[in-house]
Amino acid sequence: MKAIRRFSVRPVLPEPLAPLHDLARNLRWSWHAETRALFRAAAPDSWEAAGGDPVRLLAAVPAARLQELAADRGFLRRLAVAAGDLHDYLTEPRWYQRAGDELPRAVAYFSPEFGITSALPQYSGGLGILAGDHLKAASDLGLPLIGVGLLYRHGYFRQSLSRDGWQQEHYPVLDPDELPLELLREEDGTAVRVALALPGGRSLHAYVRLARVGRVPLLLLDSDVEENGAAEREVTDRLYGGGSEHRLLQEMLLGIGGVRAVRAYCRLTGHPAPEVFHTNEGHAGFLGLERIRELAHEGAAFDAALETVRAGTVFTTHTPVPAGIDRFDRDLVARHFGDDGELPGIDAQAVLALGRETYDGGDPTLFNMAVMGLRLAQRANGVSTLHGRVSREMFAGLWPGFDPAEVPITSVTNGVHAPTWTAPEVPRDAHRLTDAELWELRRTLREQLVHEVRARLHASCRQRGAARAELGWIDGVLDPDVLTIGFARRVPSYKRLTLMLRDPDRLTELLLHPTRPVQIVVAGKAHPADDGGKRLIQELVRFADDPAVRHRVVFLPDYGMAMARKLYHGCDVWLNNPLRPLEACGTSGMKAALNGCLNLSVLDGWWDEWFEPDFGWAVPTADGQAAADQTRRDDIEAAALYRLVQDQVAPCFYDRGVSGGELPERWIERVRQTLRRLAPKVPADRMVREYVERLYAPAARAHRALDRAAAGRLAAWKSRVREEWPRVAVDRVEHAGAGAEGASLELGSSLTVRVRVALGALTPDEVEVQAVAGRVDESDALAGADAVRVALKPGTGPDLEGRWLYEGPLALDRTGSFGYTVRVLPAHPLLSAPAELGLTAAPPDEAGAGGAGGVLLR
Ligand SMILES: *Cc1c(COP(=O)(O)O)cnc(C)c1O
Repeated sequence: MKAIRRFSVRPVLPEPLAPLHDLARNLRWSWHAETRALFRAAAPDSWEAAGGDPVRLLAAVPAARLQELAADRGFLRRLAVAAGDLHDYLTEPRWYQRAGDELPRAVAYFSPEFGITSALPQYSGGLGILAGDHLKAASDLGLPLIGVGLLYRHGYFRQSLSRDGWQQEHYPVLDPDELPLELLREEDGTAVRVALALPGGRSLHAYVRLARVGRVPLLLLDSDVEENGAAEREVTDRLYGGGSEHRLLQEMLLGIGGVRAVRAYCRLTGHPAPEVFHTNEGHAGFLGLERIRELAHEGAAFDAALETVRAGTVFTTHTPVPAGIDRFDRDLVARHFGDDGELPGIDAQAVLALGRETYDGGDPTLFNMAVMGLRLAQRANGVSTLHGRVSREMFAGLWPGFDPAEVPITSVTNGVHAPTWTAPEVPRDAHRLTDAELWELRRTLREQLVHEVRARLHASCRQRGAARAELGWIDGVLDPDVLTIGFARRVPSYKRLTLMLRDPDRLTELLLHPTRPVQIVVAGKAHPADDGGKRLIQELVRFADDPAVRHRVVFLPDYGMAMARKLYHGCDVWLNNPLRPLEACGTSGMKAALNGCLNLSVLDGWWDEWFEPDFGWAVPTADGQAAADQTRRDDIEAAALYRLVQDQVAPCFYDRGVSGGELPERWIERVRQTLRRLAPKVPADRMVREYVERLYAPAARAHRALDRAAAGRLAAWKSRVREEWPRVAVDRVEHAGAGAEGASLELGSSLTVRVRVALGALTPDEVEVQAVAGRVDESDALAGADAVRVALKPGTGPDLEGRWLYEGPLALDRTGSFGYTVRVLPAHPLLSAPAELGLTAAPPDEAGAGGAGGVLLR
């Protein structure tokens, strides 16, 4: 029978247990082992049944047990300690409170998904987990951050397998009343509602649900509101489901509704208003439009409002994979923002212009959320050093005339929240343990994983239709003393789930090696619309179903945070083999490293940056020549992977007593180095501090500098510069000094560069003239060039043709073929980077017209 209505009945806690309520409602328990231990102690059986979720636990504990606890002096003492600890955590000054007073009063952080704990399943993969870790680290650091997202009624999906290994998706209903959430209410107790206007006179309403992530409030918009029409109620049904219009509505609700939710929250709680808005990937980009509307409503002109909003916005791009970027049909966007839609008073053409792909190869019929993100944010970043570089190349078309190196997109390498991802068994200074202790620790964690895998495999096989009696073999699956490799992540094609299956016989040999076997645990979800991904999973499952190898290779369905933790804790080696450079950062390997797991990975994302032989192995890639031929590339890289495992990884693990003892000293030393030198780099508090220092603080300063009048002036200036720019030109370039024309020059000498430039109606203080110098190749292209400012020659005015004379020294600081060119750029104290406007004027190309100079330096 199925119920036709459901209610949730809240437990009534006896008075002495009242503090349990706040402890359960603040998700800090998810990274605070002592609080979890307290809940477990309250009712050990219910704790397991509740999946380690305190809110569900409290709803499940029998009243009699609660009465018992209320009289248990020992329990009450522990409860008081935990409650006091939470209170201190929430109120005491932390890093941010000591970090200076120039910092933003508050920051709003928008993301389409948040992975905080499996008890609040609102994530699909790395992007969401990163957002969750960002919030937790912000909380630990005392950063006044407000998280903003959507509450999906079904979250992502739960994965199981059919008998023949095909991914099945399930969408359980999440009842907000049973989640660790509170409804945001007005002072009179009614629910806060955020509303958006939709075409055709419809509107979209949403509740604001509040999760407490330590000190950080997370606001989740929920469109399952009675006032909504049936279609609007479904807007927040699932994460990354539905067609284009559905996605657009989700993103409008997230961006526009999200800003309105922040305003309501600040009004009701007295939280300071955010000075900086950070959008985690392009999906929340409409937040900038809503803030422009707010300013326009107060009387600001669009262009001036745009400057103010840009100054206070940070945009993080997460993907070099085009399919990872949202692009909407222009007409669809136009319909939703026209006179008839959202943001009245904002010209729909101005909105469309923000998302236009103006570069070569851009599609004029599409509206690109990443492009809009970059135009609405004065500061932008990728998520690893390599990804920063790749992003600058990818988006260079938006800054024509600049080298990719100058594109104003920096990078902040992702981090992971150490208290969330480190096994409780790993002590703080684990690298100081003796070899024997370290090895024992690793074995304990591996053994726990083996038990976890068997339990999950058992459940999965039952679910796929096996009878209990057929499953005796599962007790022999995995061995707590065998080298254990983990591979778990989403299954987009670039991550190459099945690279290890390239040569199944070769893999089988490795699994069944008589003295140095390996065992592999695999997990991952394919997007429900991605049949290609599901085929990869099926291929893997079929391989793992084979009785010849099933004790050594396992595919576990329903990858999520709870399973992920066990894998990071218990694996010896974390494998990652994406198509370089498509993995923007990758974070699972960092989480593994926190637990002394070694990485075996293609040099992509973070591993490209921090790889050292002490921390694991780099899988050689063929991303030069063979890159064009994907099959060949997979063959080469898979072969390299097998060879590495066989010749290096396995011997390192199995060779014992090299220096006399019983232990694999070389392995243990790598574990030690990973814990000692790699683990301190990966934590998310390092990442969040970098965001504060390099992006949030400068953004807040820039935003403060732009009051209405200053923003108006900046907008007017930019518009005048754009208008005049066609008349800006470099007319003549000469150099004099050390060595005559054509002669070689000595390192350490300098040239005097003399340039005449036409500025149209601009004045010399509105531009910067630069000499850009560096090595040149055979085709005179400059490589690794540096720009130096060339000053207006003192006491000179424009000549009869209106040209200005600039003159300055150029140091010859590199040997070999050396060349320079000059250029003119707009200059204004409120620009964040010289390339910001994407305007530059260079000498004409023709030789003899005073083009770039070239000299040879020996
Ligand atoms: C860390 C994590 C991810 C992201 O892993 P990548 O290595 O970045 O692909 C995905 N899912 C879960 C559950 C995670 O914990």
